[in-house]
Amino acid sequence: MAEKICVAVRVRPSISEESPSGTFWKIEDNRISLHKLHGTPISGLSYAFDHVFDESCSNSKVYELLTKDVIHAAVDGFNGTAFAYGQTSSGKTYTMNGSLNDPGIIHRAVNDVFQKIQMISDREFLIRVSYMEIYNEEINDLFTVENQKLPIHESLERGIFVAGLREEIVNNAEQVIKLLESGEVNRHFGETNMNARSSRSHTIFRMVIESKGIDTGSGDYSSSDAIRVSILNLVDLAGSERIAKTGAGGVRLKEGKYINKSLMVLGNVINKLSNGAKQRVHIPYRDSKLTRILQTALGGNAKTSIICTVAPEEVHVEETKGTLQFASRAKRITNCAQVNEILTDAALLKRQQLEIEDLRRKLQGSRSEVMEQEILKLRNDMLKYELEREKLEMELEEERRSHKEREQRIRDQQLKIENLSSLVSDGDRSSSQDSMKESLKDECNDFKTPCFKETSNNAFVAKRSNYSELPDFSPLPDSFSNVADEDTWFKMNKGYIADLDALQTTPARKVQSFPPQDITPDCSNDNYKLELQNLKTQLELVIKEKVELQVEKT
Ligand code: ADP
Ligand code: MG
Repeated sequence: MAEKICVAVRVRPSISEESPSGTFWKIEDNRISLHKLHGTPISGLSYAFDHVFDESCSNSKVYELLTKDVIHAAVDGFNGTAFAYGQTSSGKTYTMNGSLNDPGIIHRAVNDVFQKIQMISDREFLIRVSYMEIYNEEINDLFTVENQKLPIHESLERGIFVAGLREEIVNNAEQVIKLLESGEVNRHFGETNMNARSSRSHTIFRMVIESKGIDTGSGDYSSSDAIRVSILNLVDLAGSERIAKTGAGGVRLKEGKYINKSLMVLGNVINKLSNGAKQRVHIPYRDSKLTRILQTALGGNAKTSIICTVAPEEVHVEETKGTLQFASRAKRITNCAQVNEILTDAALLKRQQLEIEDLRRKLQGSRSEVMEQEILKLRNDMLKYELEREKLEMELEEERRSHKEREQRIRDQQLKIENLSSLVSDGDRSSSQDSMKESLKDECNDFKTPCFKETSNNAFVAKRSNYSELPDFSPLPDSFSNVADEDTWFKMNKGYIADLDALQTTPARKVQSFPPQDITPDCSNDNYKLELQNLKTQLELVIKEKVELQVEKT
């Protein structure tokens, strides 16, 4: 059934002593509007959402009103996502993680999931969790520090997934909370400026909930064979002011290194989804890691709620407007959530079923607590084994690919050696210096081509004109479409953040060792000999390189 994404705005308590001098944000029911200090609302700056939470609102209330339904639906087999969007220090982390006295959405969700499944007696559940960070467009595993720069893969069975990400099977809330704490420690690892990092990185806490009907012995296997699998994402996004900076002109563009590609693409995706869901426009999910991972959550089979956090202070008015505009666009997105029932081996529960049953039988008679521990351990061992196998498969694939590349390079070199050899023997015989000069030129250019190709990976082309018309804050809905052109921009740059003043820069093409004056039409016999010598040296080099490659290959 089609339903809108649920969007709420939360205003955090003011942390400034100064009282407003010109304008202030007023909250009435589910509406937030900018008012002049002593009176009238400012036209065009009044927004309505599913909920607007004022500064006195607790995490508990936010959870009850905004997220609880998504969490409960996840237990029932619907994908779910909740994310916090807003400028740095507007309260995203406070909302997701909370404080000691008022736990945030993640803790509440974890507790809620385990409480809920305890009340469901006719289904068996298997829950696993993972925790990752996207920083500088690299995915890092927060459960295992060594798992860095993980790739995103897609398969028919598993859909889109982060390959090599550690997943841990859990059977109570305390376990998850402990894991989360260790994840936080990993996140701080080796970091000198934690605030700078957290404002520029996205964290995704993920729970995969599998369940199947418990076999009641009625012999009706068809219903108990289907396994429900749902994915729950709880996301703390990077500070949205980073996106504003990229939209700004002039001086601030120089802060290009702060561009947060994922956040910008998220803006594009939301923008396109809100405009064109019906017209089947291309949605650039693939342009960033974040949108790729959240693809189902944003454009399809998921229940999604977004909490947009804003700061009430007057200095933040422009950022707050930007956040509210983002929220307004998100509100127009329609999703279509359905229960995910599968019969294939993609469900871990299914794959593990036999082994677990076996263990259960063996353990019959021992205390149930011991049994639970044993089962959990076995399950985690099995999962680890699977993940390792997956990683090995990937590495093997990579190895095969580079092997192929190496062979191709050897073939290319071989061809060049043949050309060069025939040229050398021609040259020994030939007396026509003019034709010699021409073919030398050609051959030498040819010879250098691979080097040029290698360095050209660093080439980048940046275009500034798309930005220059943008206002000095988060893009407005109509000008936002300009930013979409950055799809191309990012592709061309391969994510490289360019100094935008250095337009059309390409690396200098290395000049090979022939000085051009050596091949003047009236060169002497000595020069000719030198050229030949040079050519022979180069030939030797190529042969050496080829031998090296072959050694490397074997
Ligand atoms: P962000 O994650 O968006 O950068 P934080 O969640 O770290 O922002 O919030 C910044 C500061 O404001 C923190 O000290 C946090 O404790 C406080 N804060 C944010 N929202 C609230 C709130 N609703 N109630 C009380 N304190 C809050
Ligand atoms: Mg934060």
